Amino acid sequence: MKRILVTGAGGFIGSHLARHLVEEGFWVRGVDLKIPEFSKSDCQEFLVGDLGDPHTADRATSEIDEIYQLAADMGGAGYIFTGDHDAVVMHNSATINLNVLESARKSGVRRIFYSSSACIYPERNQMDPGNPDCSEASAYPAAPDSEYGWEKLFSERLYLAYARNFGIQVRIARFHNIFGPEGTWTGGREKAPAAICRKVAEADPGGEIDIWGDGEQTRSFLYIVDCIEGVRRLMDSEFAGPVNIGSEEMVTINFLAELVMQIAGKPLRVRHIRGPLGVRGRNSDNRLISEKLGWTPSLPLRAGLEATYRWIDQQVQLNRAPTMAGISED
Ligand code: NAD
Repeated sequence: MKRILVTGAGGFIGSHLARHLVEEGFWVRGVDLKIPEFSKSDCQEFLVGDLGDPHTADRATSEIDEIYQLAADMGGAGYIFTGDHDAVVMHNSATINLNVLESARKSGVRRIFYSSSACIYPERNQMDPGNPDCSEASAYPAAPDSEYGWEKLFSERLYLAYARNFGIQVRIARFHNIFGPEGTWTGGREKAPAAICRKVAEADPGGEIDIWGDGEQTRSFLYIVDCIEGVRRLMDSEFAGPVNIGSEEMVTINFLAELVMQIAGKPLRVRHIRGPLGVRGRNSDNRLISEKLGWTPSLPLRAGLEATYRWIDQQVQLNRAPTMAGISED
């Protein structure tokens, strides 16, 4: 049986992917700083440890055939784009990638998937919210707008260098805003879909929610199930990438908020406030992945948001429950 390592298996995409791989019949080891927050891990073996430590990376990669490398210091705009965490993000994520690759080489791992990001694309091609260019070839000359993006670009090159010099097979995807149940939804690292679902779920009827900026910035969002399918197809193909895995259903953040309010059946006022924004427009360009792997997303944004809103609404209610109990006891 093929033995797989999922790094970052305690996180959002890693925990969904590990579950999927176990269901497919693989033997899966997970490694992360933490176990999954919202459900039990399905991995046959789970190592809690810091991949910034080369010994942990050695233990994690021993007797492994293939790796899915999803561990990174990451978050939404409130974490990545303020500048306050730049050194930590670059140091942590680069060290993870350096250690995982070197341990994989020593252990004789045959193939590694690396999760890069749309944040590697140059800011200059993402100024027009109606017409951003995120084709794979547009990555160079490089000019990402965040240090998170620069680290991802460095690491893409690191994986390609290991492939060139040591014959390790790499597969690289650039994810565009993946969302779904069991993702970070509060605490400062959540991304736009989860943050908006939480704000709507928490708002009183007829109340208001805050949106950062004028809300006319554009993005596309890919539901987790489609992301996993894209990753698996890429990993099993002979195409190395880098390739976009995202949705081409581009919407403004104002539209996203409207959609969540419709799903919740809760019309609310929107207050635009100052906040970290990132690029003005971004959309996945799926021409390459559709040509190479025949992959396109299967679900519209609305369907993914319905499932995500339901889950976040439950979390909000669960988190309120102890407070209510506390009040009645007093
Ligand atoms: P996540 O934060 O939920 O998962 C990342 C996991 O890495 C976390 O569980 C964290 O504890 C773990 N980790 C961090 N530092 C570690 C360390 N030193 N040792 C061991 N584990 C460590 O994020 P996610 O949304 O699941 O993202 C997975 C990957 O996909 C990341 O590499 C991320 O940069 C990339 N990505 C995600 C998106 C998205 O929209 N979610 C978009 C682009 C790229």
